[in-house]
Amino acid sequence: MAHLNNPTEIIRPELLALHAYHVPAATGMIKLDAMENPYALPQSLQNEIAQLAATAPINRYPDPNAADLKASLREALDIPDSMAVLLGNGSDEIIQLIAMAAAKPDAVLLSVEPAFVMFRMIATFADMKYVGVPLKTNLSLDIDAMLKAIEQHRPAVIFLAYPNNPTGNLFEEDALLQIIEATPGIVVIDEAYQAFAGVSMMNRLEQYPNLLLMRTLSKSGLAGLRLGLLIGRSMWLDEFEKLRLPYNVGVMTQLIAQAVLRHTDVLTAQAERIKIERTNMLAQLAAMDKLAVYPSDANFILFRVNNATEIFQTLKQKGILIKNLDGAHTLLDNCLRVTVGTPEENAQFLATLHTILREKV
Ligand code: PMP
Repeated sequence: MAHLNNPTEIIRPELLALHAYHVPAATGMIKLDAMENPYALPQSLQNEIAQLAATAPINRYPDPNAADLKASLREALDIPDSMAVLLGNGSDEIIQLIAMAAAKPDAVLLSVEPAFVMFRMIATFADMKYVGVPLKTNLSLDIDAMLKAIEQHRPAVIFLAYPNNPTGNLFEEDALLQIIEATPGIVVIDEAYQAFAGVSMMNRLEQYPNLLLMRTLSKSGLAGLRLGLLIGRSMWLDEFEKLRLPYNVGVMTQLIAQAVLRHTDVLTAQAERIKIERTNMLAQLAAMDKLAVYPSDANFILFRVNNATEIFQTLKQKGILIKNLDGAHTLLDNCLRVTVGTPEENAQFLATLHTILREKV
């Protein structure tokens, strides 16, 4: 039997054309590239977690339904009793489940551009068609273009992040409602940054049968645990559950998330500190010459500056890692994105950026 030894004969061409998601090395750097919460948990909570970890039944598979964790999440996030909850290994995995479930031949996944890159990437993974509707030049939602695209492409699924990544802004709620009403398919509102925005579409779930809400614990302080959730009617979630691998949320994640959710005041206080720092950074960036900053309702800030790639590289050489978005989309030419860190990290970032800008007259 002659065996094939060339991946191109086996692997799907759209996969061969992709690059793996790149995560830059950050050891020893001031890490402001990935929207993480910069604060550790308080010592008392760390001790509680250490005790839980010591006796965790890791010789056994986790509860496949994570019933206790779901109950904690329902209470902490004020999830309506009428809605079902599905858990993922991060919300990334939930995007993938939804796409897999909807991936009929020619089915369309629609979002805006620029948006969270995983919407587009996962559409490709699942063999769905991706349609990205450009935002307006001020990075607000182009509702006319969206409604036109919905009519033309009849998307099975629309993903919209609220606030949006990488732009940081909240789209108009009224425009989102128009989209939900106009679409024949599901609309997933991705509220990854809800902790920093203070608004939510949770109270709209009852009203719209095609609306689903996605959350994650990553941005508010538990990125390393990998826990995302989808909230919506069981008529949808029961179908996605069929695709969910039985033990996708591990024993440690279940235990630690529950422990932290017993102290939501800790995460809320950290989010408040991040919001105060955001205001501070926005003001300081706005005061810099040769730089334009966009408003933010998230824990990161988008700004535009001449020679963005060079500035990104110089910051990196000086030990500060942010995100370079130059070249990612025409609306993001010369754009950089910085996550709000601790006051010390932010001060160092701002001072270094200021020096670089002054030297590059
Ligand atoms: N949605 C949005 C809008 C994001 O920006 C991110 C992370 N960058 C995610 C989802 C994924 O988060 P996680 O998989 O950590 O839950």
